[in-house]
Amino acid sequence: MVTVMTATAAKPSIDDIWRWLEAVPDPEIPVISVVDLGIVRDVSWEEDALVVTVTPTYSGCPATAVIALEIENALRDRGIENVTIKSRLSPAWTTRWISAAGREKLKSYGIAPPVEGAACAGALRLNDVTVSCPRCGSSDTECVSPFGSTPCKASYRCKACLEPFDYFKSF
Ligand SMILES: [Zn+2]
Repeated sequence: MVTVMTATAAKPSIDDIWRWLEAVPDPEIPVISVVDLGIVRDVSWEEDALVVTVTPTYSGCPATAVIALEIENALRDRGIENVTIKSRLSPAWTTRWISAAGREKLKSYGIAPPVEGAACAGALRLNDVTVSCPRCGSSDTECVSPFGSTPCKASYRCKACLEPFDYFKSF
């Protein structure tokens, strides 16, 4: 009985582990965590091994291997030696999985969060979906280039405050 209780106490709770993972930054946009990004799909104990299931973001982002390593390192720092990172490809990651907190953090970092249906083809607006400026909130914006600082982002410019900004493309 005592042995069982000791073993249980030594194992951090799933809640604790989620909290720790919330501190693991996305390598490309360090202001949001891997949990904010919505790529951590499941955390569970299988015997003495901690299994973290991760769905990679779209293939244009080369950060997936880095993310797995950072998750492992963060958990090792907390004393969890036996970590298995499982990759789950289906259903595919979508920007809809970015949390509300994550969207706010993107905005305060100067990146417009994904808007469903917003398409970007140069200055041509393909539909009525607008991307709001993360700095002044104006919806009077235009797409400058479908590719921003990374393939996940597009370059926009605000016509109200005239600031350029990155838009995290909806996917
Ligand atoms: Zn603006």
